[in-house]
This record gives sequence, structure tokens and C-alpha cells, in this order.
Amino acid sequence: MKLHEYQSKRLFAAHGVPIPAGDVASTPQEARRVAEELAGAVVVKSQVLVGGRGKAGGIKLAQTPAEAEQVAGEILGLEIKGLPVRKVLIDEAADIQQEIYLGIVVDRTSRRPAMMASSEGGVEIEEVARTHPEAIKRVAIDPFLGLRGYQTRALAKDIGLAGEHFRAFDRIARGLYEAFLACDASLAEINPLVVTGEGDLLAVDGKMVLDDNALFRHPDLAGMRDVDEETDAERQAREAGLSYVQLDGEIGCMVNGAGLAMASMDIIKHFGAAPANFLDIGGGAKAERVATALRLILADPNVKAVLFNIFGGITRCDEVAKGILAAFEAVKPTVPLVARLVGTNETEGRAILEGSEYELMTATTLAEAAQKAVAAARGAV
Ligand code: GDP
Ligand code: MN
Repeated sequence: MKLHEYQSKRLFAAHGVPIPAGDVASTPQEARRVAEELAGAVVVKSQVLVGGRGKAGGIKLAQTPAEAEQVAGEILGLEIKGLPVRKVLIDEAADIQQEIYLGIVVDRTSRRPAMMASSEGGVEIEEVARTHPEAIKRVAIDPFLGLRGYQTRALAKDIGLAGEHFRAFDRIARGLYEAFLACDASLAEINPLVVTGEGDLLAVDGKMVLDDNALFRHPDLAGMRDVDEETDAERQAREAGLSYVQLDGEIGCMVNGAGLAMASMDIIKHFGAAPANFLDIGGGAKAERVATALRLILADPNVKAVLFNIFGGITRCDEVAKGILAAFEAVKPTVPLVARLVGTNETEGRAILEGSEYELMTATTLAEAAQKAVAAARGAV
């Protein structure tokens, strides 16, 4: 789950990271009121869950409350990368001398949180990684020892920060790491972290991605979800308890278990096609959930074939087969379908599927199922 800039910054601030004074507004009048309280130049920032808002016209400076009202009116009418702007953040404008990048992600290779810093702040870090990766400095954080002073000092030095800012940089880096841990985040980022004319460090932008699987521990954070920013498919999947990620391939996948879903995607690639989605229907899936999953898959116009790959353990294949048939009744698929059901009650499951009026190819091995699905998607059946 992604958090908005204003939400991320407030969480950072709760852990000692300095942020500009400011508040959110949903109307131009509210924006004016916030600007009046701040007294002075402000920056009006669209709150949408995408980067590059600046370039898209979603960030503007305003010198007076009247101007803030007018600019907020313009920004509140915008759509940025397909997302309507419903809120703006009005922050005290910063006098920016230098923009740096500071972020933390979970690094799978070192199996630790990795802190990254760069002197190339303000632009998207993916862009920096592409154009001059040597400008990104990183340290791996030992989860037992925590972030150490020598590590933040090394980062500050490596990005060429002036010595007078080391202490402030260290405090901010620790605050960011604390916030990252406390919120069970998978990403926490300040881009840019700026050096102001007064010589202070200030987090001008903030971004956090929370681990959905840890949200049950944070009801307060879960309540921050902006349902407006979810696609229809994402919302339906979440409400049905499905792990669903849309991709851009042509083979829809319905699988039980995340590992099996990964393996199915890999083998589809291996046989020369691409998966249209990652979808884990979970254990013990009932007919209704199967139907929702199938509806999500078929709503994607890129889908040319569907592969069901079910391993029956606690989940019984006959239950899933009944679910698939019920789903067909509800959804009426028009693309070729391949099913591989193995494990508990597989014979019963296959018998149920064979009685279906829909044309459903069956397979016993994963390789066979994937090859059939790939061939079907190419219309070679
Ligand atoms: P993003 O484009 O969505 O990542 O939004 P940011 O919050 O990072 O803002 C983009 C850029 O706008 C920053 O890199 C700054 O250059 C500029 N900016 C943001 N806030 C201020 C501010 O208070 N004062 C000034 N002068 N520039 C700002
Ligand atoms: Mn930014």
C-alpha cells in the first residue's frame, strides 16, 4: 500500500525528520486558509500516488494566499498519469540550495534493508540508476545492529555533503530508518532531501510503501488507504482476499499459492509467452472467490488464454472444479482454458470439469499445461 506524500512526511516527522510546515486541502478555499496561516510563499503540491508530479504541472509556487487559492484550483482540476487530484498539500516554500536523495528499500540480495543516498536528488531514482548508477551510494543495514553512525557518515561523505551537515544527515537517516521499521514499510524515501539557504536539511518530498501483509499490525496506517487511487481490479481483488497483480502478457493465470503462481509465470515465459497477471487465490478457495478471480482475469482485454494451475493439498480439487464451473456460469469465458488440477481428489475434480459445456483442456504436468496454454493463446489449437 502506497502512502501519499503528506502522510509519509507526517510519519517521518513523528520520528524526528524535519519537514516543512503545512497542511492538506481539498478545495481552493481551504488552500487559501492554510496559506494564510503559513504567511509567506508556499508550494502547492498535488497528492497523487505517482512520481514526477513536478513535470506534470502538479507542483507550483504561490507568493500570496490569493495566488495559493488560484493555483490550488488549477491543480485540483488536473489528472496526473490518469489519477484525478483530489487533495493538495500546501507547504511553506523552501529556499532550496541543494537536492539530495535518501531512501531505504528491502534488498533481497543482502537480505537486509538497504539505505541509498545520492547527490542527484529531485529526479526519479530509477532515472539516476539508469543514467549514472555510480551516483547512488548504498549501505546494508544489519537488522540486529541497526543503522550505525559510521554508515550514515560514509553515505554523507560519498555523496559529497559538506561536513557541517553530517550531524543533521545522521539524525534524518536514523529517523527515516525508524519510521521504515515502525511502519513495516518496504520503501521509505525522501526525494529531495534539501539543504536550505539557512543551512538546514529538510525533507521536501516523502514516499512510503507499506507491506500489505503487515497492515494487520497497523490499523491506524491501514485506515490511511486512499480507495480513490486503486484501480477497480485492485479493489475487487483486495476485497475478495486475492493477491492480484496485473501484468502485460496474454496468459491469465489462476493459481493457488504464491510459489506455485511464480513457478507458473516462469514456465509460461519459458515456453515463449508472457503471463497477464500474478494471481494467488489462496488456500481452500470457494466457488465465489474463484469466480471473482476469473472475472478479474477476463476483464483484461490482453488475455488470450487462461491457465488454471491448482495443487490440491488442504484445498480439494473437486471443490475448486466446482468453483471453476460456477465461475463459468457467472462469467461465460470466451477464450481457451487449460486446467491442471493435481493432488487431493484430483480424479473427482477432473471428472467434474469434463462434464462442463465449456471447452476446457486438461493437463497433468505443469509443463504440459503451460505449453497448451501458450499454444492456445497463439490460436494454434
Ligand atoms: P515529485 O516530482 O512528484 O517527486 O515531487 P517533489 O515533491 O519531489 O517536487 C519536485 C520538485 O519541485 C523538487 O525536486 C523541487 O525542485 C521542487 N520543489 C518542491 N517543493 C519546493 C519548495 O518548497 N520550494 C522550491 N523552490 N521548490 C520546490
Ligand atoms: Mn520527489
